[in-house]
Amino acid sequence: MGSLNYGDLVLLIDSKDRRYLLTLEVDKEFHTHSGYLSHNDLVKSKEGEQVKLSSGKTYLLVRPTMSDVILKMPRAAQIIYPKDIGHILLAADIFPGVKVLESGIGSGALSIAMIRAGAQIFGYEVREDFANRAEKNVVNFLGKDALLNYQILIKDIYEGIDHSDFERVVLDLPEPWKTVPHLPTCMVPGGILVAYTPSITQATRLRASLNSADFVMQETFEVSRRTWHIEGQAVRPEHRMVGHTGFITQARFVGSS
Ligand code: SAH
Repeated sequence: MGSLNYGDLVLLIDSKDRRYLLTLEVDKEFHTHSGYLSHNDLVKSKEGEQVKLSSGKTYLLVRPTMSDVILKMPRAAQIIYPKDIGHILLAADIFPGVKVLESGIGSGALSIAMIRAGAQIFGYEVREDFANRAEKNVVNFLGKDALLNYQILIKDIYEGIDHSDFERVVLDLPEPWKTVPHLPTCMVPGGILVAYTPSITQATRLRASLNSADFVMQETFEVSRRTWHIEGQAVRPEHRMVGHTGFITQARFVGSS
């Protein structure tokens, strides 16, 4: 908060609600079809101000929220959307200092939210280029110190998990059930598993594998978010909505009986 500095992330919003995410850099310019703005001028502005382009057109200047950054940051793989991330944080009960195994890492959207909530993440990701992208996205929003709580191993998690004592396991993988045989040796009793799967057949297959391991309190749900258009007498749901993203499955590990 407070005054802006070089290196800060800012969001510019035009009258049509188009949003542009920028990192303030010395002598850099922001160009659009309707003119340009210099970062040197932006840095002297304040949050909440309308800033003027060379053409006279104005943009609202604010610092981006975590959701703004996640939706706008460069992607390596499809991200988990903020509406689902919010529920995953609660389903996995992420708190400061909690030891989390996360796989795959993708673009790091979910990682950003969990690190910000205080998690210490150990990641398994098969693609080194994705892991690098995710690290860049994490540093860009949370700063270099965030890497103290973010270690990624380049490895196929289906082949096994070398680490142990995880309190939480958070999965966004095509075949999450292939990790289940490895989980009893890497999770603490009472630990929570949360998996995000775009398709219900993936969720069903995961649930079947959890039934044959020591997982209880299993639940699968989806999150619907419908925004409303509210303008004078015109009060109705928006015509467009994101109809489907994925299913979230949660379960608790109780240890071998
Ligand atoms: N949750 C992430 C997106 C993950 S996309 C986000 O919010 O940004 C799924 C990721 O799983 C991809 O990066 C893919 O490379 C990785 N992946 C797929 N199979 C894997 C495996 N067997 N082991 C580790 N990572 C895997």
